[in-house]
Amino acid sequence: MAFPKLQEHSYLGQNRLVPIWDYLHNNYEGTLRSPLFPVLLSVSTYLLLVALFTVLDVLAPHWPSINRYKIHPEKPVTWTHIWRTLGLTTYNHLIYIFPAAVGQWIWRPPIPLPKEAPTLTEFLLGILGCTILFDFQYYLWHLLHHKIGWLYRTFHAIHHQYNEPFSLVTQYLSAWELFSVGFWTTVDPLLLQCHCLTTWGFMLFNIWISTDDHCGYDFPWSLHNLVPFGLWGGSVKHDAHHQKPNTNFAPFFSHWDWLAGTGSNLAQSAAMRKRESKGA
Ligand SMILES: [Zn+2]
Ligand SMILES: [Zn+2]
Repeated sequence: MAFPKLQEHSYLGQNRLVPIWDYLHNNYEGTLRSPLFPVLLSVSTYLLLVALFTVLDVLAPHWPSINRYKIHPEKPVTWTHIWRTLGLTTYNHLIYIFPAAVGQWIWRPPIPLPKEAPTLTEFLLGILGCTILFDFQYYLWHLLHHKIGWLYRTFHAIHHQYNEPFSLVTQYLSAWELFSVGFWTTVDPLLLQCHCLTTWGFMLFNIWISTDDHCGYDFPWSLHNLVPFGLWGGSVKHDAHHQKPNTNFAPFFSHWDWLAGTGSNLAQSAAMRKRESKGA
């Protein structure tokens, strides 16, 4: 499904993405065309995000102002947890991701860059469309890998070694799961015929929301507290999946679990309960 070429309405003014795209296009064309660029963008964004959350995890036991936002304030993240998850992340990147990226760099021709920027509407709708599609694909993948014992034991059980996730658990995955996720993240923008700026925007958004799902915090500004009608699952619902693995299979939105009756009634955090009792 291609999004039609939309013209920004005059009341929105000029297309805000034109100067950004022109700047990138004119100054970094060689870098942006390299097949290595999306991989380096994804890996560096992930490492930056987990570094920030890991600093919070290390400080949380000593700083009550951070610990009060933890979904499990009584269970600190230990250095053993950090080194173990970081070890598998490093292994997966060295053994699978970088060789695959270098292979692409050698065998794939540089990607052609469009001259025109996407409109802001195309950019935002593209990211939303890819997120909805990815959410559906992962929901099915996830459900199958819990319902079929062999698939669970062989590929997904490793991710469930932690009942109380923290940011580094996001990519504490088997190679098969890592490739499935990487495959959809690459293919979905192609299916929706997104501009490459939209594709990179979706990759960054996907990394952010996946890390947010596993961060172990329920901040007032977390996406699930901002999106209305409980449409967004976020960290609290995904934490409930790690507690009660036969519920909450969707990674981001709540509608598939709601429609299929697989939602969890555990989806509340200590911070949520405190907010509710204050509001009552
Ligand atoms: Zn998880
Ligand atoms: Zn699972």
